[in-house]
Amino acid sequence: VAKPDALLVADGVRRTFGGLTAVDVEHLEIQRGTITALIGPNGAGKSTLFNVLSGFDRADAGSWTFDGAPLAGKAAHRVARHGMVRTFQLTKTLGKLSVVDNLKLAATAQRGERLLPSLLPPLWRRQEREIEARADELLERFKLAHMRDEFAGTLSGGQRKLLEMARALMVRPTMVMLDEPMAGVNPALTQSLLGHITALRDEGMTVCFVEHDMDVVMGISDWVVCLAEGRVVAEGPPDVVGADPAVIDAYLGS
Ligand code: ADP
Ligand code: MG
Repeated sequence: VAKPDALLVADGVRRTFGGLTAVDVEHLEIQRGTITALIGPNGAGKSTLFNVLSGFDRADAGSWTFDGAPLAGKAAHRVARHGMVRTFQLTKTLGKLSVVDNLKLAATAQRGERLLPSLLPPLWRRQEREIEARADELLERFKLAHMRDEFAGTLSGGQRKLLEMARALMVRPTMVMLDEPMAGVNPALTQSLLGHITALRDEGMTVCFVEHDMDVVMGISDWVVCLAEGRVVAEGPPDVVGADPAVIDAYLGS
């Protein structure tokens, strides 16, 4: 039985690739307003689980609800409209578009096609202004305002990570799912990204992020779920999961 404040509740989620079972999760919950870290060695199925839950990949089995709405089988833009938005391990930034246009595009893409606003120019223009204001707000927040009109391709690796996070936030999601937001960035930027994640949670957003480095998640996570070979092998508060033999085994075996 799910806890009363569970935002995401998933049961029996399975994804296989040929003979390989990439994800086989019996039960998973993400509590509203928390930071949940999804950890596990490379190949554990973390990205695949994100892909399935966010509608970018289809499950072979399973059901899940988000904010009470059943979302299994729904396409990514419909999932996003329910308030669940994810980022990718490899950023989806378009180098030949300006930084601000990357944000505007994210808002449109995540909203999916909408016929009505395009038939009502004043409404459409108001929506465009709102999107632009939101983009500028996020550019300030992530200290990218000075890069606003530059090609996104000119951003550093770290700035690209920040833009990726900003893209996910364009639609003011209830929950943001970040796939290895810290991968490949220097320690200073890692600290800054962790600060951004904590700030989002403190503002009431629910955050679920994938990270394979256990040390990174310990400081900021409210709850840690460890996947190994597609299954949840341990979950709990960070200090408990960090000391769990099953987790240590999963990492040593990888
Ligand atoms: P993680 O993100 O935890 O490192 P992934 O979810 O990327 O792991 O991968 C889990 C397993 O599924 C791996 O063995 C990987 O090779 C396999 N896998 C992932 N995506 C595909 C795919 N599209 N086709 C075939 N195998 C895949
Ligand atoms: Mg991955």
